[in-house]
Amino acid sequence: MSKLNNPLTQYFHEDYPKQYQEPPGVQKEMNVIPDCGENSYIGAGKLKGRKALVTGGDSGIGRAAAIAYAREGADVALNYLPQEQADAEEVQKLIEAEGRKAVLIPGDVGEESFCKELVEKAYKELDGLDVLALVAGKQQAVEDIADLETDQLRKTFEVNVFSLYWTVKAALPYLPAGASIITTSSVQGYSPSPNLLDYAATKFAINGFTRGLAKQLAPKGIRVNSVAPGPIWTPLQISGGQPSDAIPGFGQDTPLQRAGQPVELANVYVFLASTDASYVTAQVYGITGGIELA
Ligand code: NAD
Ligand code: MG
Repeated sequence: MSKLNNPLTQYFHEDYPKQYQEPPGVQKEMNVIPDCGENSYIGAGKLKGRKALVTGGDSGIGRAAAIAYAREGADVALNYLPQEQADAEEVQKLIEAEGRKAVLIPGDVGEESFCKELVEKAYKELDGLDVLALVAGKQQAVEDIADLETDQLRKTFEVNVFSLYWTVKAALPYLPAGASIITTSSVQGYSPSPNLLDYAATKFAINGFTRGLAKQLAPKGIRVNSVAPGPIWTPLQISGGQPSDAIPGFGQDTPLQRAGQPVELANVYVFLASTDASYVTAQVYGITGGIELA
């Protein structure tokens, strides 16, 4: 008989130690290292021969997707910021341990010219491209709109929203029928927190972009979906995504009473990329610990 786990206690469910890093934060240095499936994700050949670009692939949710993609048989190009090189190299080792190709392409997706370069490099080095897992994101909590600087407002929209247009535009000439595009939304794209006015608005925008793009690309046989995480334990949160006081009890106000771990999202990124999802497009999948997407 297989072992049955209680989801309340299946992953870390105590208070997290209070901690802060300058953004984007390095996963290696977190106290309680996020679980991205390094020791647990088992592949079943669902993405054999596929070629995936994963943004934000060094840490957190993107890392969980990248590890799972490699274990399912895909070659993977990873994008991240230069400050995250150490995290990215860990992921590279894990991908190569599966006998898959790992291509590291650091750079700022908030720049249109870099998004083009990123796609060109990924396509060339992977010798093709048929999965875009667009996971990179920026989140900085600000309590009062009076203190929300235009620089932050602009950068949050550039990284979270504009980068999707720039990356998809650059990739479309290369994406064959059967390709899959996956964006990363949030519960914030349904129910905005008062201290995330810029970030939450980008997630509403991502929902609209994803569903509209899905309809535009359906005739080409390209599916487009999104994943909407609830509170997940990642560098994003301890580098200003939450006020420091909110870190210990992070995620405990969800129905499942704990934060999620990145590995708990891996299967959905795999499913949406795979041909198992052949009739799935224009959808947003919630992985939220029970927070309703409404
Ligand atoms: P994370 O810090 O591990 O990942 C975010 C990644 O974004 C970073 O690793 C970094 O590589 C990348 N990034 C940030 N700015 C960038 C830039 N200018 N150029 C290139 N890359 C950049 O945190 P995560 O929580 O795994 O975040 C992944 C995605 O999940 C984000 O889109 C985030 O909005 C979304 N999300 C996270 C949560 C959560 O609770 N952690 C909840 C809902 C949605
Ligand atoms: Mg990171």
